Amino acid sequence: MIPVFDGHNDTLLLHAERPDRDFFARHEDGHLDYPRAREAGFAGGFFAVFAPSHEAPELDRLVRRPDGTTQPAPSGALDPSVAIRHVNGMVAQFLRWTKDPDGRFRHVTTAAELERSIADGAMAGILHFEGAEAIGPDLRALDVYHAAGLRSLGPVWSRPNLFGHGVPFVFPATPDLGPGLTAHGRSLVRRCNELRIMIDLSHITERGFWDVAELSAAPLVATHSNAHAVSPHPRNLTDAQLDAVRQSDGVVGLNFATGFLSPEGNGDKALPLEVMVRHVDHLVDKLGIERVAFGSDFDGATMPDAIGDVRGVQRLLDALADAGYDEAALHKLAHQNWVRVLRATWGE
Ligand code: ZN
Repeated sequence: MIPVFDGHNDTLLLHAERPDRDFFARHEDGHLDYPRAREAGFAGGFFAVFAPSHEAPELDRLVRRPDGTTQPAPSGALDPSVAIRHVNGMVAQFLRWTKDPDGRFRHVTTAAELERSIADGAMAGILHFEGAEAIGPDLRALDVYHAAGLRSLGPVWSRPNLFGHGVPFVFPATPDLGPGLTAHGRSLVRRCNELRIMIDLSHITERGFWDVAELSAAPLVATHSNAHAVSPHPRNLTDAQLDAVRQSDGVVGLNFATGFLSPEGNGDKALPLEVMVRHVDHLVDKLGIERVAFGSDFDGATMPDAIGDVRGVQRLLDALADAGYDEAALHKLAHQNWVRVLRATWGE
């Protein structure tokens, strides 16, 4: 089995909603837990810390889908004090997993550690923030989270905040749906560059994308977005954006969510693997095989039945092999491209 390292999951959000759930135990619901990940050759990924959009702290106000995943309703800006409480709880959950006495889950902060973890057949996590609501205008909290091992950050989720604006979930539309970075957003990008925290562009408006492209010294990365040419959803990247990712030697991670894959913009779970292959084909055509990876959105979105849960990643690799991707290409898509772009971004 080819190890798969993945650009995005919301498993910490699922655990925030259900604090008694054991990550190291097998479950029938949700998409990702340790036993199923091991079975799937899943070498880990970016674990997103995300504060839901409601005002009250009770996580049971999340909207629950039939498959057990949750969806916070997109809305306006989030109260920072609410965000901080959620974010600190999720960071603590991640850190507890990394202190597992059997060493089953490794917190990686360098590309060398990630490479070693994959080679050892272990499971690794990168601590990622999806939206910077827990960080104030002086950016001091960013230093604290960096010290706790934060190595990747999307300035915005699909809502406005102090730093910028995210794209709403509408279809069909281009990502040019709002303003770009604020002055605080530009300071955040500069500080992330200094701390060598990867900047994730997956939820940002097109104007925000170009602001980061102009400012940032790091490769441009969208951890969980697809090809707008195949599915015209604003969460996906236009060909012009893909050209910029290529020029910066960045990476785009294929999102498995039906809503961002479907050319019709529907959430039909019957979506065939062939559509995922079509997105990969387009991304590879625009970016080159060195700059395409996976960013599943497990536990944060509706998966095609052909994927189901984490065990579906090997079926996706099989479909790509059937479509003509050779062994070397599959290794790049499955994990090597993430290692490469993280080494360039983190510098070690
Ligand atoms: Zn997301």
